[in-house]
Order: sequence, then C-alpha cells, then structure tokens
Amino acid sequence: MTPSPQPIRRVVIAGGGTAGWMVAAGLSKCLGRHYDIRLVESEEIGTVGVGEATIPTLHLLHEILDLDEREFIQATQATFKLGISFENWRNVGENYFHSFGKTGKGHWTAGFHHFWLEGRKRGLASDYGDYCLELRAGLDNRFATLPDNGINYAYHLDATLYGQYLRRYSEALGVQRIEGKIAQVHTDAVSGDITGLQLANGPLIEGDFFIDCTGMRSLLLGETLGVPYESWSQWLPCDSALAVQTTLVGEPVPYTRSIAHPWGWQWRIPLQHRVGNGIVFSSKHISEDEAKAALLANVQGEVLRQPRVIKFTPGQREQVWKKNCVAIGLSSGFLEPLESTSIHLIQKGLTRLIELFPTDGVRQSDIDEYNLQAREQIEIIRDFIILHYHVTNRDDSTFWRQCREMDVPPFLRHRIQHFRDTARIMLRQGELFAENSWVQVMMGQGIKPASHHPITRNMDNASLADFLGDIRKDVARTLMKLPKHQQFINQFAPAPKLDMGAPAAGPALRINPQAKLDVVELAGGARVYVVDDFVQDPDALMAQAQGAAGRFSVIAGHPYPGPMLDLPDSFCDELASFFRQRLAGPLQMGAPLAMSARFSRVMQDAATLDARQRICHRDDSGLDAGEMISASVHYLFKDQALGGTVFFRSLMSDADTQQFRRDASTLDASAFGDKYGLPPGYMTQSNRYFEVIGRLPAKWNRAVFYDGGIFHSGDIDWAGHKAGYLSAPGRLTLNAFFKSRQP
Ligand code: FAD
Repeated sequence: MTPSPQPIRRVVIAGGGTAGWMVAAGLSKCLGRHYDIRLVESEEIGTVGVGEATIPTLHLLHEILDLDEREFIQATQATFKLGISFENWRNVGENYFHSFGKTGKGHWTAGFHHFWLEGRKRGLASDYGDYCLELRAGLDNRFATLPDNGINYAYHLDATLYGQYLRRYSEALGVQRIEGKIAQVHTDAVSGDITGLQLANGPLIEGDFFIDCTGMRSLLLGETLGVPYESWSQWLPCDSALAVQTTLVGEPVPYTRSIAHPWGWQWRIPLQHRVGNGIVFSSKHISEDEAKAALLANVQGEVLRQPRVIKFTPGQREQVWKKNCVAIGLSSGFLEPLESTSIHLIQKGLTRLIELFPTDGVRQSDIDEYNLQAREQIEIIRDFIILHYHVTNRDDSTFWRQCREMDVPPFLRHRIQHFRDTARIMLRQGELFAENSWVQVMMGQGIKPASHHPITRNMDNASLADFLGDIRKDVARTLMKLPKHQQFINQFAPAPKLDMGAPAAGPALRINPQAKLDVVELAGGARVYVVDDFVQDPDALMAQAQGAAGRFSVIAGHPYPGPMLDLPDSFCDELASFFRQRLAGPLQMGAPLAMSARFSRVMQDAATLDARQRICHRDDSGLDAGEMISASVHYLFKDQALGGTVFFRSLMSDADTQQFRRDASTLDASAFGDKYGLPPGYMTQSNRYFEVIGRLPAKWNRAVFYDGGIFHSGDIDWAGHKAGYLSAPGRLTLNAFFKSRQP
C-alpha cells in the first residue's frame, strides 16, 4: 500500500475507559512531543467499570510511564496480588493456586516439576506449592516487595480510579480530553480512511490516525470500518457477567479468588477501600435472576451498589488494525476475565503500536505485522483459559459436562496430551504464561502425567532429597520474614479513606398505607393504575436521590436516556410487596420471578438520541417464553411540565412492528431516521407507525403501574423545557419492573 497522503500528525483516541487512558498515557509519554494527541470520551455513556485484577506484566507499563509505585497504589486503592485461588474448579470442594513467579528451580532439559514428580514417586517431595514463595505467601496472607524481584506480584486496583489517575498523567503530558458523544464517524470517500469524529454536541474532531477504545461497541473498527467479530463461544461458554461492589470484611488477601459454580464462576477482588465481586456465567445454563441471587448469596460485606449485568461474546475482531484505525481494549475483542489478561492485552496492543507506529504514513506491512502478533498473542491466552474449563473432574452439571466433552483447538489438544504423556510443556516464543503457569493449571485441574523426564533419574535419593529440601527451606525462611499483607500496605502505601456511600440496604421507602388505586382506561381498553400520594415523605426520598447524585451513572449500551442509580434492596422489597398485594391481581400477573428498581433522570438532549431512544418501547426485552412484565414510574419532580408518560399502540402488522424494533436496535440514528422518516427527538405524538392511546400527566408523588407490554414513552418536551431537565432534580423518577410467570 502506498503511504497515506498526509503524514501522521493528529492522533485521536476514541473512548476514555481503562484502554483509552492507558493508550493516552503510553503514547503521550513515548511520542507526545511529535504528535497532537486528543481523547474523546462521553460521561453520558460511561465505562464498563470492571477490570480490577492485573498480572505482573503491568510493571513494564509502569516502568515505561515512570510511575511512582506508592503514588499509584494510593491513587487506585490498590492491594497486591500473588496469584489466583481456583476453588471448586477441579472438583467441588477441591482448590488449587495459580501463583505468579517460579516454583523451584529447573534444569535446561526439564522444568522443576519433573524433579518434583520424581521426588513424589520416591516419597521425597511434599506439596508442589511448598516450593513456591508466591504461593505460600499468598495462602499465608503475607506480602512484601523484595530486592532483585525476589517476589513476583501484580495488583488489584479500582478500575475507575486507575482511569482517573492515568487521565491526570496524560493531561499533564499534553493530551487534550474532549467531552462528547460521538454521533458519527466520517470516512474518506476514496481511501475509506477515517477522517473525523462528529460529536453530538457540535465539534468535528479531525485526525490522521485513530485509536478505537470505545469498548465492546467498537464504534470505529467494527461499526464504521466493518471488521467482523470472530466468536470463540464454542470454547468459552460464559457470555454474561454481573458485577457488584461490597464493603471490605476483614483484611484483604493478596490473591484473587475464582470460585467455580455449576454454570460459571465468581470472582472476589479485595481492594483497600472495598471488594469487587462478580459472577461470570453462561446464560444458557442459568437465568440472570438466579445468577444474581447466587452472587448476592456468596458475597461478604454490605452491597454498595446493586449488581449490573454485562453481556459479552468471547472472541476477537478478525483484524485489529485496518486502514488508519487500531482497536485496543474491549473494542478489539474480549477473553473472559478468568486469568485477568485484558489489561495486559491493552498494554501489549499499546506497546506494539508504539513499536510499529506509522512513520510517514500508514503502511500495509506494519498493519499485517501488528495483526499477526495480536492474533498469536491472544490465541495462546485463549487456549490457556479454555484449559481451565475443559480439564476438570466436575460432572455435576450440564455446563461442566459440556465443557469436558467439547472439542478444543488443536494446539491446546496437543499440549494437554503432551503433558499427560510426558509432563512436558514446550513453550513457543512470546507466550504470556510461563511453564510454571501451565504446569500449575494442568496439575491443578487434575492431570497426573504418565511419565516425566529421565534426567531426573541421574539424582540419587540423597541428592534429590537435598535439592528439594533446600528449595523448600528457602521458601519457608523467606516466608517467615514477610509481614502480613495488610501490615505491609499500612506502612508502604496506605490509601486515603474514601466515602463509599451508604450500603445499598437499609433505608425505608415508606409507601403510604392509605394509598388508593385509580384505574385509567386507555383507548382500546387496556388499563393503567395510578396511585397518588404514593410515599409518605416524597421530599425525603427526593433529597436522598439528590444526595446520591454522584453515584448516578449512565450505563453503557442501556437505552434509558440519562443516568440511573439502583435502589437499595430494602426499597425493592417494599415495592415488590406492595406490587404483589395491590397490583398483581389487576395486572393479571402470575407467580413473581424477579423485580428491579432504580432512580432515573432524563438528561439526554433530544438531538443525540439513538434510534432505540427515539421511539416508544416495551419493557419486554430479556423475557423468556411464559414470562411477562409490569412496570411502574413514580414521579419525584414538582414541575409537571417535565412530562408524564404517554402510551401507544402500533399501527403496523406484528411482523412490521418487529422489524421496526429490530431496525431501531441495529441502525444508527440517522439511518433509522432516513428509513422511517422520523425526525430526531422523543416520541410523544401519533405518527405513521404508532398511535397515542393515552397520556398520564406527571404529578408530584404520583406512581403509575402498567403492563410492560404496552408501548410507552416519557412524555418529554425537550425543546420546551431543556433547562428544567438539566437542572437538579430535573425529571427524577423511581422506575420499577416486576417480572412474573404468565398465569
Ligand atoms: P470501556 O470501559 O467500555 O470504555 C469505553 C469508552 O468509550 C468509554 O469512555 C465510553 O464513554 C467511550 N465511548 C463509547 N462510545 C462512545 C461514543 N459514542 N462517544 C464517545 N465516547 C464513547 N480485565 C482485566 O485485566 N482484569 C480483570 O479482572 C477484568 N475483569 C473483567 C470483568 C468483566 C465482567 C469484564 C466485562 C471485563 C473485565 N476485564 C478485566 C476487562 C476490562 O474491564 C477491560 O479490558 C478494560 O476495562 C478496558 O475497557 P475499555 O476501555 O476497552 O472499554
């Protein structure tokens, strides 16, 4: 390919999650003097907000950035990590530890485990873990940094704080941050190169080279340049996660816990100020509600925010660099978080980009080299993760039986067989996980090699016992000198105390016991139910929501046009009980299955709505056969003009209605507008496709309950009341959803 017509001068990073800010920091440090670097991010869209366990390679990035370790730890509330405790993976009730660092000392012909296997055979060796400092220290909850890299470690960190920390770093080096939602990506009609990002709030951000860090949506590489996504879900069965933060109970341990369940697994990541928890599961094997219940039943400490679901497809874009755009982070692909490798892959993407940075124009040979390396690196990590699922003795669920029986990629099949036969792991150049990692996981998951290297027989019993004994004693001696993990944090880098907000459980909603149900009939006969004076103290409720304003967030990919905050469990319980007693009958709901509730504020400018947000909707997404849903909206604002709720019926056939909704989910706003001739804005009036069948005016402290299968929309007059929506408390509502079986 001939070089681009213009040399690279302006670099634009799209997205400011962990990937965007890592890239901004690395590029500004290494190349900032020569390039104008800008980063566009949207607070309204937010970040994925997880990704808190790392691996030791992160030290390399921090060395490149020349970060001060203490400052970094304090800024991110970090703790230390020595490995991962895999619990119930080999079988229920059986655990093993995948530690960083080395176990014992090997010989060039054969790794240490061959000598250990020989020692075991002769009755001379104790547990494999006794020969690994990191493993023993982890399980003993001890830690200290040691000279000459005497202990291998990584960190647990707060993902949001890490992003903020790298942002401060990058801005100090001249990176310009631009707030705004990318509404359109412009390309050159001839070359197809990306030329600029059109922001919804006005400016066009032009550039010569673009880095797509827009998360799973992959707005530039995937959506604009059309690079397909290759799914690996035939090998990695989990497709969903629920993440929740809890208060810290006791002292943080220096390892991640990975606890297997019959349909996936759960993580626990202790930080200085809180614990990150989550569950990764296969939606084919457990419902979201059941997974949520399992997660909440298995956390310690008080829940700080209600769990939120993250859907994903394990896999990677077929190319991660195309034309003048490289995708780094979730936009390039995602392996599930089992071995905490995503931040590492961001780092590799960044350092590879710096190595291959286009000099005087983009060259295809650089692109090809980049893509080749990216694929090699991720595929071997993928295989390592598959190993955990595939090699197991678990037989207690369909999920595990399917994992055991699946056909794995040929290279992994070979590596497993080779290890089973000979205890050998022959690493390829550039592999991330060292021999010790493969050995720990292979043996930890239950493989007992049939043989090991004959060189081990050169040692007689006395010398083999001495060799093993010396290593074990060395480990034990160093271990004795290590302080407790918490003690080391206290003296090395204690982070400032942070206000984590009130736990999610506790306060009462106090629904008015005298609340009266009024029936409103919509055109066509459907009924909605109105309860005025719904709670006893609406001012207190509104004040509570306003006090928590800093914890409201816009959830990436969620169609609600503004920030939200999950309600405490105690509120949900009260609402659910009211609903069961008063509304389940009138709304003809069957046995209750689940409910969720949140505070919400409409804050999105009508001009920037995506296609789904421009139309009326039903609340039925995610319902399985035989399920139904009702919903409620409780108005907590006094300015009635900010609008109540408007109900519609479709004027289209069922098939056309489905197509219309599908298009709204798949087309971008302008393509959708062009196809259906619908102008930008909130839908509040009848049109060619929908007819208004009723309009419920807003009223302070009024709650409206309705069948979630009726099309509806907020009755939002953005142009008329923009200032009212944007100034606090704005159009604050409490929205709840009640799922049940069909009667
Ligand atoms: P995001 O955080 O989604 O950021 C995307 C950015 O793009 C945001 O700033 C957003 O505002 C912006 N954006 C998107 N669209 C637009 C638009 N139209 N206009 C303007 N801006 C836009 N990794 C690990 O290494 N360790 C772990 O333990 C780990 N655990 C994980 C657990 C789960 C359940 C998941 C899903 C991931 C986990 N990861 C982990 C991966 C890790 O979270 C990500 O690699 C990391 O957070 C990087 O995300 P990102 O920056 O690519 O995307």
